[in-house]
Amino acid sequence: MRNRGREAAERTAERRRRESEAPRLLGVAPDLKLLELVIEERRDGRTLPETTHKKRVVLEHAPALFVMPCMDRSCRDGGHDVTAEILHALSKKQTTFTGEDPCNGQTGSANCQRVMHYTATAEFAS
Ligand SMILES: [Zn+2]
Repeated sequence: MRNRGREAAERTAERRRRESEAPRLLGVAPDLKLLELVIEERRDGRTLPETTHKKRVVLEHAPALFVMPCMDRSCRDGGHDVTAEILHALSKKQTTFTGEDPCNGQTGSANCQRVMHYTATAEFAS
């Protein structure tokens, strides 16, 4: 258990480091006025309702980094980095866009079967 705690702490520290080193979102997308993401995870093509949540990005503080953890508690080294595709959509001023990313973590001895889906809503200054 101590080991697991340390791993989690290291992952948190790593995430904070990446967030502080990333450029600011408004530096990359200065016209952005609002960004909301509806995130859900699916397994075998079915949505897992407990994973569905809405995330409103606080633009003043947001790094240009979109990394979501895998919501399966038994998943190790999982998660989703959709930074490149979200920044690409924002650079084209898309007001709605969706994407998905399969988890490449491990649950026990098997590959994690979850796929993260997101629907983004964005508003830009005209
Ligand atoms: Zn996973």
